[in-house]
Amino acid sequence: MSPTPVRFHDPRATRADFTSSILVRCPRCERIAHLERRPCTPPSADRGTHPHARLVCRSCGLCRNGSRPFRFSRHPGAASYPTLWLRTDTRHGELWAYNLQHLDLIRRFVAADLRERAPWYDIGQKMTLVARLPAWMKSAKNRDEVLRAVDRLRATVIAPG
Ligand SMILES: [Zn+2]
Repeated sequence: MSPTPVRFHDPRATRADFTSSILVRCPRCERIAHLERRPCTPPSADRGTHPHARLVCRSCGLCRNGSRPFRFSRHPGAASYPTLWLRTDTRHGELWAYNLQHLDLIRRFVAADLRERAPWYDIGQKMTLVARLPAWMKSAKNRDEVLRAVDRLRATVIAPG
């Protein structure tokens, strides 16, 4: 008797579905902060630029407006932008996610035995996030290692220490 294979349906999520709230490292206290698509304060009439995004840290209370959607960096020290929180290296490559929902999507995809891709006529020109995942992440022989890395990353958010 073989166990029922776990199926994965591509939910057709694209980048835009996950970038409304991105987990980053707070530039002030180094704990988890959020990049969100709304300003700390309402746009003021006397300023030429309206804030479109904010960086919020619940640990130290930082709230910083951005005049355009915030940029972030995947690699510490690479730029003056805040660094993505959910990022780690594996032996095969870099694993990263915008937030927990994105990480869970990756986990469900990697853990599945049967993967059903969204048909091209359904998604048009857009690549879904799942379709963009690198080949090493889709490889069955790397599955356990990728899942461990995913769980390590998730643990840093659920129980930050
Ligand atoms: Zn902070």
